[in-house]
Formats: sequence, C-alpha cells, structure tokens
Amino acid sequence: MTSKSDYYEILGVSKDASDDEIKKTYRKLAMKYHPDKNDSPEAEEKFKEISEAYAVLSDSEKRASYDKFGHAGFDSQYSQEDIFRGADFSDFGDIFGDIFGNIFGGGFGSTRTRGPQRGADLQYELRLTLEEAYKGKTVEIEVPKIITCDKCSGTGAKSGTVAKACPECRGSGNVQRTIQTPFGNMISQSTCPTCHGSGQKIDTPCPKCSGKGKVRSTKKMSVAVPAGAPNGMRLRYPGDGNVGDPGAPAGDLYVVVRITQDGYFVREGDDVYVNVDLNFIQAALGTEITVRTLGGDVMMTVPEGTQNGSTFRLKGKGFPRVNSKSVGDQYVTINLITPDKLSTDQRKLLEDFAKTSGFDTTTKAGVKKKEKKEKGGFFKKVKEAFEE
Ligand SMILES: [Zn+2]
Ligand SMILES: [Zn+2]
Repeated sequence: MTSKSDYYEILGVSKDASDDEIKKTYRKLAMKYHPDKNDSPEAEEKFKEISEAYAVLSDSEKRASYDKFGHAGFDSQYSQEDIFRGADFSDFGDIFGDIFGNIFGGGFGSTRTRGPQRGADLQYELRLTLEEAYKGKTVEIEVPKIITCDKCSGTGAKSGTVAKACPECRGSGNVQRTIQTPFGNMISQSTCPTCHGSGQKIDTPCPKCSGKGKVRSTKKMSVAVPAGAPNGMRLRYPGDGNVGDPGAPAGDLYVVVRITQDGYFVREGDDVYVNVDLNFIQAALGTEITVRTLGGDVMMTVPEGTQNGSTFRLKGKGFPRVNSKSVGDQYVTINLITPDKLSTDQRKLLEDFAKTSGFDTTTKAGVKKKEKKEKGGFFKKVKEAFEE
C-alpha cells in the first residue's frame, strides 16, 4: 500500500480553506482531469484522487475527522465507499454529464432510490351558492381517485394465490451492481428491473387490477364547509388522496370552495353589497322597506329626501368570518325609479309640484320615454343641478 497524499495538498488549498474555495478549486481540477477530457494515462488516477479529496473536505463531519486524525485515523473510520457515500457532487453535473449521473446518481451522494411512492394529492372543486357559503354546509361528495384493489387487497395477486418475493432483488425492490469507475469499484443501487421496485413476483395477477394492486374508483365522503367560507378556500383532508404503494402513505385531498356569482348579492370580503329599487315618492317622503339579506329579510328605514345612489349600512348583516367572531355588513344602495307612465292628471300634479318647488318647468309631452332605460337618470340630473 502506498501512503496517501494529504487531501489539502491534492487540491492545493490551505488547511483553513473555505467550503467555497474548496468547491472552486475542485471544479477547476475536475475539468482538467476528467477522463473524458484528458487522454493522459495519469488523468484517471488524478481524477480519482481529487474526487476523493473533495468528497472528504466538502463534508464537514469527514473533514473534521480527517483534520483530527489524519489519514491513518480517518482511513480506519471510513472505507472507500463511505468516503463517497453522502458526498454531494450535484454542483458539477455540467462537467460530469452522464459519467457523473452513472457513478454518483446510482448509489452515492444524493441518491434517489425509488422506494414505495406516496399517493398523489388530489384537488376537488366544490361549487356552492353564496347563501350556502354564508350558512356553511356539509356536502356529500364523490371523489374520483385511485384506491387499493378490493379483490386482492392490494397484493396484485389473484385471490387464492400469493405474491412471492422477487427473485432478482429478493423482495427489496432494489438491485446493487458493482461498477468499475475512475474511483475504483463502486456499488450502484437502482430500482429492480424485474419487479420495478415492488419487491414482488406475481405468477397469477389479479384480474381486476391486472396485478397493480390499485384501481380507479370513486369514494363518497362528507365535507364540512364552515359558515362564511371565502371563495377559493382550501380544505385539506390528509390521507384522502390517491392510495400510495404498499408501505407508503396515501396523498391528501384538497377541497377547493368555488362560490357561484349571485344576481343580487355581491360579496367583497366579509361585506355584501345590494341595490334596492325605490320609487321617487318613497324616496321623497321616507318609508320603511323590506330588504333581503343572507340571514333573511330585515326592515330598513329610508329617511325622507333620500337621493338616488344613497347607500345605507345594515350592520352585522354580512358574512361571518371563519374562525372569528367578526361579521361583515350589508350595504344597500338606493336605485330610484321614475314613473314611466303618467296620466294627464298626474302630469298636471307634477307640474304644479314643480312650480311650487321652484323647479324648472320646461317640459314637453311625448319626449319622456326616450330615457326610459336609464333608471333614475332624470332625478340624478335634478340632484346635480341642485348641487351647482
Ligand atoms: Zn387486484
Ligand atoms: Zn425485484
């Protein structure tokens, strides 16, 4: 056995070099000695050497141990395999390309061995009316999802038969291969190609799930939407998503509340806005009207001389806030209705009224219906004229 060179000397950095410096130095050397880029016979050996030095010095625990014990002590603690296990070469993917992936991706460093997979999360859109969201509602829903096959209880084997351990991986789902690399022999671990990670061999697959152990189905469940739920609210049901592989958890279900628009109530946060028609006599004389709120009808006093577009607040008649005692308000905006059919007598009355009020009385029979669609337009103009 030849004695090993000092890791710091191999990289050409000082003992107190920062992680960043070590990384930069290694990057430079790796580009120089990478076996794909350097044909000289020493390159491969050199590449192995710098990679080992980097694997140790980039790992704070291994570096501390090396600093403390030197090669002799360190080597008795870590095997060649240990040195590379957990080493992170992911920042050098650009240099290594495929060789990098093959050597390190398989079994060392940031390995992504495909174990049993967790089930996927699911999203379910639940449509509610504004009134349902106001009161809160418990809804029975049917969620399309992947569930455990009931015929084989998830084993994938036809009932009466049993799944055996996969002979290639002996039930582990992973296979290990020894590969020759510039770093010496390494063990690469990957998903078993025979059983695709399940660890099982099924001679007679379950006819319902074709041996997958899972089937598409729907599941009925009850969803409780709290009173005052806002549009877009997400309710999480852990474990109610797709079923996972054996040994892995199921995904989660997210129920997203979608509130349909209402023709009368307009919601803004916890507050509700409505428009209420009022004839010009009621507005002028004052009255009491019945107003629809989400909690039921309420009486509202309209004072005399109310103008078109005036807004009144009904305190506490808006949405309750979820998980809070606060409640929004309802705002009622008055929309004045001008009569569109006047008898001769009514016309005379209005003209007399206008005279006694000092209104401009230039009116002309026959033009009145032109602005019919513009509700409250006439009075609005009057109001503006007064304000000048
Ligand atoms: Zn089955
Ligand atoms: Zn296998």
